[in-house]
Amino acid sequence: VSKKWKAKPTSIDLGNGVFIKDGDMAIIAGPCSIESEDQIRKVIKHLKENDIKMMRGGVFKPRSSPYAFRGLGIDGLKLWYDLASEAGIKIVTEVMQVSQIEEMYPYTDIYQVGARNTQNFNLLDELGKVDKAVMIKRGISGTIEELLQSAEYVFSGGNEKLILCERGIRTYERASRNTLDLNAVPILKAKSHLPVIVDPSHGIGIRAYVPQMALAGVMAGADGIIYETHEIPEKAYSDGQQTLDFTQSALLADWIRKTFAMR
Ligand code: PEP
Ligand code: MN
Repeated sequence: VSKKWKAKPTSIDLGNGVFIKDGDMAIIAGPCSIESEDQIRKVIKHLKENDIKMMRGGVFKPRSSPYAFRGLGIDGLKLWYDLASEAGIKIVTEVMQVSQIEEMYPYTDIYQVGARNTQNFNLLDELGKVDKAVMIKRGISGTIEELLQSAEYVFSGGNEKLILCERGIRTYERASRNTLDLNAVPILKAKSHLPVIVDPSHGIGIRAYVPQMALAGVMAGADGIIYETHEIPEKAYSDGQQTLDFTQSALLADWIRKTFAMR
C-alpha cells in the first residue's frame, strides 16, 4: 500500500457516481447500530435531504460488554440494504468474522474492519479475496505502521479497494474516549496511495466536540469523514453520547463541504 509501489492515489468507485478518492470529500453518516426499519427510514431520509450518499451502521456489533446490544444481524442488513439501495445510498458496515463475509456480500458496499479486529489476520486474508471495498480502522492501540501492515494483508491478497480510517487511539488521557490522532492523516497520506477517512465520533467520543474534530480532520487532509447520527441520540442503542442529532448532522455536512472547499 506504499506510494513506492504505486504512486497514483487509489480511487474507490462504488458505482452510481459515488467515490472515495484523493481530492474529494466523502461523507459517511449513520447510527452506530442499525436498530429498526423505522430508524433506517429516518436516517435515509435525513441523508437524502443533505445529499449524503454513504450510510454507516453496524448489524454485527463488537461490544465491550457481552450484555450490551449486539446488533440485528444479517436480517437487519438485508432490510437496510433494500431500503438504502432503493434510495441510491451505499452501505458501510462492520464484518467481525470470516464466516460473515459471504453472507454479507450481496448487501454490503464497504466492509468495515473494526478497531478490535485490525490485527485479525485471518479476516484480513479473506477480505483480500473479495472484490468489494474494505475500510480498515486503526487498532485501539495500533501504530500507524501496524495499520499499514494490516492494509497490506488485504492488498497483497488481491483486493486493492482499500480505505484507511483514523478513529482515535488509547492513550493515558481519560478526558476523552480516545485520542484522535490527526497526525496520522498527513503521515498516512504521505506514505500510502490509499484514501484516508477520519472518524471523529469514536475519536473523541463526546457529541459536542465531534464537529470541530471532523473539521480538523478535513484540514489535516482527510479524503472523507465518517460520523454517527441518529434521530434521538439519547435513545440510541449504542454510542449515543457521541452521536449527532439530525440538525447537528446537517450543519456538520455543510461545514465539512465548506471547509473542504477552503482547503
Ligand atoms: C463503530 O464504527 O461503531 C465501531 C465499533 O468502531 P471502532 O471499531 O472504531 O470502535
Ligand atoms: Mn459506534
